[in-house]
Formats: sequence, structure tokens, C-alpha cells
Amino acid sequence: MVAMSDAHVVQQAMPLDSAGLLEWPSREPFYLPIGREVDLFEAAYRHRLPVLLKGPTGCGKTRFVRAMAWRLHRPLVTVACHDDLSANDLTGRFLVHGGETVWQDGPLTAAVRAGAICYLDEVVEARQDTVVAIHPLADDRRLLPLDKRGELLAAHPEFQLVVSYNPGYQNLMKELKPSTRQRFVTIAFDFPPRDIEVAIICQETGVERPVAVNLAKLAERVRRLRDRGLVEVASTRLLVHAGCLIAAGVEPRDACEAAIAGPLSDDPELQAAIMDLVAMTLP
Ligand code: ADP
Repeated sequence: MVAMSDAHVVQQAMPLDSAGLLEWPSREPFYLPIGREVDLFEAAYRHRLPVLLKGPTGCGKTRFVRAMAWRLHRPLVTVACHDDLSANDLTGRFLVHGGETVWQDGPLTAAVRAGAICYLDEVVEARQDTVVAIHPLADDRRLLPLDKRGELLAAHPEFQLVVSYNPGYQNLMKELKPSTRQRFVTIAFDFPPRDIEVAIICQETGVERPVAVNLAKLAERVRRLRDRGLVEVASTRLLVHAGCLIAAGVEPRDACEAAIAGPLSDDPELQAAIMDLVAMTLP
């Protein structure tokens, strides 16, 4: 397939296989609410207000969106944003297919047409011009400009836009512009309190409760190392990984080294500090 420039295209009405971009979870995703995020999301969805999920990596944002898609009976389209992501990557392009030029919907266009929930993960990583391209979709116009087709696509009534960002990564070059932020209802996420985190670890990994309690206590201690230069602290995701290794028979300290200390830092001193906490916390 060859991407074609505007000058060569013959516009086609039918999108090419955009259905493949939509995900319908086959069973209800396991999600334990931490606060009032489910009610807030449902209220925003009722008014089709775009939602921004703000919080550290690995604290449940993606799982939450999947659970909400299930709850609201909507398909889900997920895009992991990166600094090369262009507006065309989101909206679509013309392709030469079997000797014909056909339009292929990008993931955002597929979601807008189908009335899906479109989740732009780590939106702050995307190029500014890409982010600005979603502005008309993220206010009450609910329109997606398809520049290559010379069209403005009106969003399906059920379409919902959700973006996430991690304020921890924030720097001067990578901040959401106020004109973008103010289009979104913001739901703030953080790591769950201990009892909820323990329940998540048990459910996700199958370890016994005392093991999960120790992992949650370890996370609390590691999270205090933020002041000592740890950029990202132990997320629920890392605890789940450690729990999976333990459930698979790995010795708990080795599991924590592989799943927590290793991913968090390359600095030998910080790794040693984390392993000291492991030794203090795990029997
Ligand atoms: P994020 O999108 O914030 O980076 P994820 O949603 O991918 O994080 O969460 C990472 C993992 O942590 C999930 O795969 C899941 O195992 C677990 N998790 C975190 N929070 C929850 C929660 N509230 N309920 C159920 N699982 C959770």
C-alpha cells in the first residue's frame, strides 16, 4: 500500500476496514473504583463532555476506560500517543489498494463514525498540531475535520473523547495548552489506598492476601523515595507484575527486584535503596 498525496486522490465514500480498529471487550474488565470516578465519567458521558484522566503511570486509567466502555456498552478505540503522531495518523489517509485509491479511516475517525469511546493515551506526547486538530471535536461542535477529504465529519451521538496524561512527565515543552485543557472535564487519579490496592493485587495475580499486603506496604515505602530522586514510583502495575512472578513460584525478593527495583531505576544507589525497603518489608 502506498500513501498518496492530496493531488492524486479520487475520493471514495467507503472507509477501508475501519471496523478492525474498534474493540469490544469480551468480558467485563475488572476495575475497583477508588473514589467517585465512575459517577463523574457517567455524568460527563451523559452530556458528551470530553474527559481528561490525569495521574501517574500504572494507576488504573486505562483499565478504568475499558471498564467504562463495557459499562456504557460502547466499543473502544485506543491510541498510544507519541511525538511522531500526526493528525493524519488519527484521521486517516488515502491508500492505493488493488490498483484503486481508497480512503482508510484512522482510529479517531473510526471512533467518531461508530460512536465509540476514543482513548488518546498520553495525549501530551502528541505533536501540538495534532492535539489542536481535535479541538473542534472536543467542544460542542463535535466535528472532526478530515482535511484530506475536504470534509467535516459530525460525531455520532454516542461518540466520547477521553485523553490521559501524566503530570509527572510534564516539562516546559510538553504541557497541554490551556485551550486544550479547558475543553475537558478532568478526573484525577492516584494510587489506590492500601485496602483497595491489596484487593487489586489479589484479584489480578491470585497471591494470598498476606503477600498482597506486603507488596502494598512496600509500595507505600517506595513512594516516599520520590523525594530522593525517583522520577516514577512503584505503581499498582508494578505490584501486579511482582505478584504474578510470586504466584508463578519466583522467590518474593527476586520478584521485587525484577518487577519493581529494575523497572524503576538504573541508578545502583536507588536500586539498593529499594532493595533495602524490600528486605525490611518482605519476610
Ligand atoms: P495506566 O493506564 O494508569 O498507566 P493501567 O490502567 O494500565 O494504568 O493499570 C495498570 C494495571 O494496574 C492494570 O492492568 C491492573 O492490573 C491494575 N490496576 C490499577 N488500578 C486498578 C483498579 N482500580 N482496578 C483494577 N485494576 C487496577
